[in-house]
Amino acid sequence: MLKEWEVVVVGAGAAGLSAALAAAQSGAQVTVLDAYPAPGGQYYRQPPQYLQKHATRRQRQGRQLWQQAQQAGVTIINDCLVWYADGERQIIARTALDSYEVHAHALILASGAYERPVAFPGWTLPGVLMTSAAQTLLYQHILPGKRVLLAGTGPLQLVVAKKLLDAGAELAGVLEGNPVARRAVRHIPALWGQWERIAEGLASYLTMLWHQAPYRTGWGIVEAHGVSQVEGATIARLDDQWRPIPGSHQRVACDTICIGYGLIPFNSLSRQMGAEQSWNEALGGIVPVRDDNLQTSIAGVYAAGDGAGIGGVRMSMIEGRIAGFCAAAGLGHAPQTLALQQAKKQQKSEAVFQRLLMDLFTPGPGAYELASDETLICRCEGVTKRKLAQAVAHKASTMMELKSETRCGMGECQGRICEQGVLHYLEQVSRQPVDASSVYHLRPPVFPLPIDVLGRTPLV
Ligand SMILES: Cc1cc2nc3c(=O)[nH]c(=O)nc-3n(C[C@H](O)[C@H](O)[C@H](O)COP(=O)(O)OP(=O)(O)OC[C@H]3O[C@@H](n4cnc5c(N)ncnc54)[C@H](O)[C@@H]3O)c2cc1C
Repeated sequence: MLKEWEVVVVGAGAAGLSAALAAAQSGAQVTVLDAYPAPGGQYYRQPPQYLQKHATRRQRQGRQLWQQAQQAGVTIINDCLVWYADGERQIIARTALDSYEVHAHALILASGAYERPVAFPGWTLPGVLMTSAAQTLLYQHILPGKRVLLAGTGPLQLVVAKKLLDAGAELAGVLEGNPVARRAVRHIPALWGQWERIAEGLASYLTMLWHQAPYRTGWGIVEAHGVSQVEGATIARLDDQWRPIPGSHQRVACDTICIGYGLIPFNSLSRQMGAEQSWNEALGGIVPVRDDNLQTSIAGVYAAGDGAGIGGVRMSMIEGRIAGFCAAAGLGHAPQTLALQQAKKQQKSEAVFQRLLMDLFTPGPGAYELASDETLICRCEGVTKRKLAQAVAHKASTMMELKSETRCGMGECQGRICEQGVLHYLEQVSRQPVDASSVYHLRPPVFPLPIDVLGRTPLV
């Protein structure tokens, strides 16, 4: 039966919990739905039960935020995946035991981000994993490999390199594709005052110096080698566009490769609902168009945090508060004028740091040109770059035409892994900039579902 709920927040990360708290403090009835077993999202991800005693400061802060929300009257439902959402603000969610069909009077999407997949020869070999996956294993006290190469860009590389060293791994190298030190000079005013962040970066860097781990900027991975498992990699110096410089190639031995090319918004629900989208390289790719109150083009639907554009944890919390206050005020609750003004001021100053991060850590176009004809671009459906080229030769000229010709984007991940790869490939061959309206059309379910769940749900 369709339930009527006042404010529904999808996602219990930094943005979702902040949004829920703000809306509840304004007097709204708020329900948060989250797919993870405990609230916290990525940044405040809670440890498994058996490691609760060893919770870190960050995990304790996350717990505090979620308890604050609960004390303000917010209901949080975990292990609850929202797999359908439409333009009338109707959503369908499932837990192991229940299915919820809800009409939300206001809906706040705070669904976070995931790591940008980049295809290169050998990227599907066992032993190649995302840096964040290595981080998750380390959180569970599992060492992902013995001799590890990290390649890509972004501060997460350094953070995970430090964790790997602390846990006893050997580093074959840490490759940062961007010339960060050179570029950072132009951002000195924006870095001023960011002492906590600078200290975290420095601590990781000093650990690497201490262990004499090879850290190189302006370098990247070109190919992973191995038969049934990673045995090594070819690396090269990169030019400013991330294209390997001829003659600089080197071979390194390693059993594990962590690739991390930054984050992209997980924005499937707003796309599925039909909210207007735009392409914004600086925010990570396809993002919902929002007004000053973070409302999307669909009335009563707000988007906050990394899912609406990569901004980091502080920006996510600020945006969460703005969306929460505005969603509640939009339903007639008392406007929190002062608190909202303050949050918007913080948003402006945090945007300076957001731009800095994107300038320092966005991969250049050369990263998307490494795939050979045999490289899989869509892993789920086994679509190689050669198959894409054949489809283009048969006159496929849009993402949707490539999808129907090759089945790319139709597999289990629903295009999350291959979409940006296919998009950049199309951009290269057509020499046309990306058009956000021509990307994959997303249909429910957002994630794969057991067939009995669909059987229990009236046709949508
Ligand atoms: C893999 C990874 C590692 C990171 N590591 C660091 C780090 O070391 N240091 C750092 O400063 N920042 C890190 N970040 C960035 C930081 O985590 C984010 O900036 C911050 O968590 C953003 O908050 P958010 O609330 O927007 O999203 P998140 O914290 O990601 O929360 C999103 C929540 O939405 C839920 N969700 C998504 N879709 C659905 C759905 N359909 N149904 C139900 N629930 C859903 C998810 O379960 C999740 O709990 C990392 C980000 C990622 C993705």
